[in-house]
Amino acid sequence: MNYTYRINPTIEQQELMLVWMETCRRLYNKCLRDLKDWLNSRKCSLHSCSLSREYIMSPDILFPSYLEQKRQLTQWKKTNPWLKEVHSQVTQDCVKRLHNTWERFKSKKFGFPRFKKFGRYQSFLFPQFKESPIKNGLIKLPKIGQVEINLHRPIPEGFMVKGVRIVSRVRGAVWYAVVTIQCDVKVPDPLPFGRGIGIDIGLESYLVTSDNFRVEPARFFRDLQSRLKVLQRKASRKNKRSKNWGKAQLKVAKLHHQISNARKNFHFQTSHTLCDQADMIFVEDINFKMTARGFLGKEMLDAGFGQFRDLLSWVCWKRGKYFAQVDHKYTSQICPKCNAHTGKKELKERQHICLECNYSTTRDHASAEVILNRGLENIVPTDCRERKLSVESVLPGIAISR
Ligand SMILES: [Zn+2]
Repeated sequence: MNYTYRINPTIEQQELMLVWMETCRRLYNKCLRDLKDWLNSRKCSLHSCSLSREYIMSPDILFPSYLEQKRQLTQWKKTNPWLKEVHSQVTQDCVKRLHNTWERFKSKKFGFPRFKKFGRYQSFLFPQFKESPIKNGLIKLPKIGQVEINLHRPIPEGFMVKGVRIVSRVRGAVWYAVVTIQCDVKVPDPLPFGRGIGIDIGLESYLVTSDNFRVEPARFFRDLQSRLKVLQRKASRKNKRSKNWGKAQLKVAKLHHQISNARKNFHFQTSHTLCDQADMIFVEDINFKMTARGFLGKEMLDAGFGQFRDLLSWVCWKRGKYFAQVDHKYTSQICPKCNAHTGKKELKERQHICLECNYSTTRDHASAEVILNRGLENIVPTDCRERKLSVESVLPGIAISR
C-alpha cells in the first residue's frame, strides 16, 4: 500500500537527487543497450547472416538477465566512480526496473523498453529499510540525509515502511516521497455482501449508477485545459532553450501537474461517494486504452476512466466493499428487465425502449442496470452474513457511515 507525501528538500539535496536520477538514467540506458545488442546478435535471417545488420557476439555470452547485469554493475562500479556516488540499492533497483519492463513486454507482447531521454527519468527507489525512516516530520534517506516531510496523515500503527520512492515533478520543482507500507496482518478481500450497484461510464454524464444516480463530468477541467492551451501557445513562441523558454516550460509543467492532481482528487471523491451508496460495486471491463484510440479519442483520455476504475477498486478494498468487473459486451443492447435484445443503438440514441416489456429509461441507466444484473449473476453464493474485519478498522481518515 502506498502513501504519497510532499517533501521539501534543500537546494543541495535537490541537486544531489537530480544527479542521482541522471546517473540512474545513464545506467538504465546502458543496460538496455546491452540487452538490445544481445537480442540483435541472436537475430538472423533464415539463409544468411548479414554482417552489417547483426552484431557478432560469442555464443558463450549469457543473456543479460537481471542477475547477470547486477553482477556486471559491481564490475562497472570499479571503473566508473560516478556510479558509486549513488546508493547501491538504488542502482540495483534501476537495473531491476528495466527488467520489470522487459518481463512485462514478454508477457504482453507490447511495450518494449525504451531509452530514456534527458529529464525523463524522474524517480528512484530505496527498496528496503531496517527501521522506519520517518521521525519528527523528517525522513532520513541514506546518503541524502534528513529531508523535511509533510506528514498530512500518519503512517498507521502496525505498518512497516518497506520502501521509499523519491519522485520529482514539474521539472524538479516539486518533490514527493511515495512510501510503501506493509502490515503483517493479512487483510482478507471483501466478500460479496449486501446491496449492489452497477456503474456505466460514459461521456454525457461521467457515470450513472443503476439507481439512476449521476455524476457529471467536472467542468473545471475545461477551464484548466483552456488555460493550458494559452500557456502552451505562449511557450512555443519563445526561443528554444532561452531563459524565458525555460520559465514558460515550467509554467506549463506546473499546470499539467495541477490538472492531474485535480483529476485524481475528483476520482477519489467520486469513489467515496459511490462507496457510501452500496456494499458491492460492479463496473464494465472495457479496455479504455483501446477505446481512447478509437472514436472518442482525447476526451476519453482526459476523463481518465482507467485511473478512475483503478482508484475505485482500491477505495472499495479499503472500505471493505466488494468490487468486481463484468463482461462489457452488449450492455447497451439488452433490456435490464426482460433480457430481450433490443438491437444495436446508435451513439446519439439516448433512450432505451424495450418492445417486449415496454420498459423505458435513459440508455446509460439501462446499461448500468444490466451491469448490476451481470455482477449479481457472477457471485458465487457463499454464506457471508458475517462480515470479515476489513482495513477500515485499521486505517485512519475514513469516515464510517453505516
Ligand atoms: Zn424489456
